[in-house]
Amino acid sequence: MNVLVINAGSSSLKFQLLDVDTAEVYAKGNCERIGIEGAFVGYESVAVEGKQKIEAPLPDHKTAMKHVIDIINATGQDFIGIGHRVVQGGWYFPESKVVTDETLGWVREVAPLAPLHNYAEADAIEVCRELFPDKGNVIVADTSFHYNMPEKAWRYALPRDVVDKLHIRKYGAHGTSHRYIWRAAKQFVGDDMHKLVSCHLGSGASLSAIQDGHDMDTTMGLTPLDGLIMGTRCGTIDPATVCYLHREGGYSVDEIDTMMNKQSGLLALSGISSDSRDIEEGAAKGDANCQMAFDMFYYRTGQLIMEMAQSMHGFDTMAFSAGIGENSATMRLGVAKELEWMGVKIDEEKNAIRSGEVREISTPDSKIRVLVVPTNEELMIALDVKDLLG
Ligand code: AMP
Repeated sequence: MNVLVINAGSSSLKFQLLDVDTAEVYAKGNCERIGIEGAFVGYESVAVEGKQKIEAPLPDHKTAMKHVIDIINATGQDFIGIGHRVVQGGWYFPESKVVTDETLGWVREVAPLAPLHNYAEADAIEVCRELFPDKGNVIVADTSFHYNMPEKAWRYALPRDVVDKLHIRKYGAHGTSHRYIWRAAKQFVGDDMHKLVSCHLGSGASLSAIQDGHDMDTTMGLTPLDGLIMGTRCGTIDPATVCYLHREGGYSVDEIDTMMNKQSGLLALSGISSDSRDIEEGAAKGDANCQMAFDMFYYRTGQLIMEMAQSMHGFDTMAFSAGIGENSATMRLGVAKELEWMGVKIDEEKNAIRSGEVREISTPDSKIRVLVVPTNEELMIALDVKDLLG
């Protein structure tokens, strides 16, 4: 059973056509620089060999979608419906929902919480409804998985009238990935796993405390800025820093927003790059700033893993995932070493193995089972489409 998955950003549109039962991918790619000069569609497909690139103007998402249709048609595969990744579901999507005028309206209504993403995603859904009138569409919000966390985990200690009026709470992010990581880890481990700390460590990074499939807490907050140190995001800092930067530093709110989201994190600490590969190279050559970037990343990640464990009063398994978690043996080891005091032990040989499979990298006597779980958000989205439309 095939599903088309769409992940639209303000100037990009990622797509993937896959078989939800076998996870086989027939076509996948990204329409980049939509509305900007130099637009192109990069893709791979079973219909042609190797990586393909179509250079063509993409004035809007509709034009991009027309290229996607051509690419999909060339595979000769049909699909049952379209799954849309939505970054912010607000208070309307405790679970995935079929697109109707009403549910699409909700995506726009909560867009002020994620303006760069939700408006583009709503537009892309509109385009799909128009271009594929006989196909169902499903909204899969990244925040859904976190919505039913215990209130003590999601509530902020701000005045009730303010939080109620502005819908302020911990929404979290990467929920679709954390949900997939739980599912894949459970399939791998079986009945012995109950309390998992899922570590999605990519250019954006978050942890999730998952007890028997239920999210108990997560490190991202109202927005994806909170929690861990990330590629260009500062993660948790004293919130009064924002006021101080504004009052004493003379920075505008928008400048602070840009500073904290785009100019901070590993990029600011290392002074050279937001990419962990460059920083690893720098640290190996003795660059002290690169080493400090890693030391702080390990320290904060270790601290927040303990915070997640506390929310479940313990944990039996942790899983590394996403770009850093799946690929960097150095960073996995660095994080694990922070937890050595409480019995986490990594088998360095197993840790060094590169593989696209779920695997265990802890020693037999480690108190906590440590896994590497390649994430697959597209498959998770497709599974929701199958559930709702299949
Ligand atoms: P993601 O956002 O999940 O795509 O992760 C992207 C990040 O993963 C990059 O910025 C790198 O820091 C990191 N990454 C990707 N591949 C590797 C690799 N082979 N070794 C180390 N880090 C990697």
